[in-house]
Amino acid sequence: MQERPPRPPRAEPREVVELKQLKTSNPELASAIDMQLALVDVQRRIQSRVPLPWIQPDPAWLAAQREAGRPVVRFSDIPLDWTDFRLTLRQTADILHRFEAIDRDEHTAILAVGRDGNVLEPIVSRWYAATSGTDSSDPKNRLPPGAPASLDQVLLLALRPFLARCAEALMQREDLSGWMHGHCPICGWEPDFAVITPSADRRLICGRCTAQWMFGSSTCPFCANDDRSLVTSFATRDGLYRVYACDVCRRYLKAFDGRHSTRSVLIAVDTIATLPLDAAAMQKGYVG
Ligand SMILES: [Zn+2]
Ligand SMILES: [Zn+2]
Repeated sequence: MQERPPRPPRAEPREVVELKQLKTSNPELASAIDMQLALVDVQRRIQSRVPLPWIQPDPAWLAAQREAGRPVVRFSDIPLDWTDFRLTLRQTADILHRFEAIDRDEHTAILAVGRDGNVLEPIVSRWYAATSGTDSSDPKNRLPPGAPASLDQVLLLALRPFLARCAEALMQREDLSGWMHGHCPICGWEPDFAVITPSADRRLICGRCTAQWMFGSSTCPFCANDDRSLVTSFATRDGLYRVYACDVCRRYLKAFDGRHSTRSVLIAVDTIATLPLDAAAMQKGYVG
């Protein structure tokens, strides 16, 4: 019998390589980077198992949603496997607890919610409906009374691998160029990062499903302020990252400046590399 040559070690994903490099160059970010590496690992493993969904909404309904500024992915469109979702929820909560982003009581409460399918399923569907704006649910009632506050963050991360596949499927097919809103055309969440293209346009990146869409380069996505004199913008010394801070609503958004880089944006890396910019923005009195 012929011996098979040993299999070469699988190449690490680009974002993992970059995060490790960042840890060497910025040791003060080590703990945040380790947490991000753990989260990226969970998300990649789950996302690779999620099928690309076939979302084919009725064209009239789609046009009406767009017209009303509502996103296109309804809860029933998400290819959610509950066993995988519960696993993602538990592992995400474990990581946040391990890195002290959530306390022990919250961790215990979230695991209890995740264990009971009869409790979990209505919580997740209600949370999505209330935070996506796909229907008229009230975003204030996104979580049941008494639910741990950090459940919001855990649901956001745990739903991402499933929603990211929806974004992938729809962005290949749908023309999003007519979308003029500051919230995500796919899932309705807010942008939490942006990318400046080599032609100086700005694309916003959804903080939940990671979809990208074009948006006015000096308009605030949170309050639609487009008075340039009321937008404070500053960049890192290497020009790689930029902050847009709104002097009307006091919120800010970070961006990766593609004009100063040979690689494209890596959201898992760039959000961590810019943590010092968050500190600078907050010191100036802005909120994320
Ligand atoms: Zn989204
Ligand atoms: Zn604003």
